[in-house]
Amino acid sequence: RTVYVNGDYVPEREAKISVFDRGFLFADGVYEVTSVLNGKLVDFAGHMRRLRRSLDELQMRMPCSEEELLQIHRKLVEVNAVAEGLVYMQITRGAADRDFTYPESATPTLVLFTQARPVIASPVAERGARVVTVEDLRWGRRDIKTVQLLYPSMAKMIAKGQGVDDAWLVQDGKITEGTSNNTYIVTADGTIVTRDLSHDILPGITRAAVLNCVRELQMKVEERAFSVEEALSAREAFSTSATGFVCPVVEIDGTVLGDGKPGPVARRLRQIYIEESLKSAI
Ligand code: PLP
Repeated sequence: RTVYVNGDYVPEREAKISVFDRGFLFADGVYEVTSVLNGKLVDFAGHMRRLRRSLDELQMRMPCSEEELLQIHRKLVEVNAVAEGLVYMQITRGAADRDFTYPESATPTLVLFTQARPVIASPVAERGARVVTVEDLRWGRRDIKTVQLLYPSMAKMIAKGQGVDDAWLVQDGKITEGTSNNTYIVTADGTIVTRDLSHDILPGITRAAVLNCVRELQMKVEERAFSVEEALSAREAFSTSATGFVCPVVEIDGTVLGDGKPGPVARRLRQIYIEESLKSAI
């Protein structure tokens, strides 16, 4: 595969980053993952909006214009012949002598690569995901999409060790989000509940699109924290993310939701979200 590093398109084996890069030493960097459908980018504008915000929060600057970022995304999709999959983009503060203070003069490091794989056809989405709850021990600024992903990796390993698909993270008895997705339940009266935005969760690009769609359809929705208990007695549950779209959840901590099959709300939203994404991808 060809990857992009600081202005160059190179074979992945030849790509090089400094050992002093602050992304490597301090996880001092941010990223975005944009899904690709039919060779086109889904909600690129949404990912750019969040990228700008992440960079602002960390007092980092854009390495180049958004138009250039779009062209780089497109070129990689083309040279790697990605019909379906994703583009990963990472921006770190750059290389500097190791020191806790941010260097003033570092040049940001920009890296992009692609993964070609089916994203629409998903065995997990077909059968519904099984999840376990795990204490949320991440830092206090989860609204910034940083590359500091060790705890979510640990939580996902705990889930794998228990033979399930993912972990839902819990703080003060309430679900924050999944290891790499936003989380939802559907209550007995059909209301969709998802945690409100704050420093506690990542503002998902898919979350925003799905909530827009839910409002257009005039479905009942509440943005508020929900407890593990409430989730266990929910009619159905699901998660959203750029590469998972809307993914039904059928089991939490061994408790089967409803009839144990993907629920109608999650299935409908998944279908609508994919249709809309296919139409609006650029
Ligand atoms: N929450 C976390 C912690 C994530 O890592 C992600 C995506 O990677 C999401 C939510 C979903 O965000 P998006 O819909 O923008 O992919």
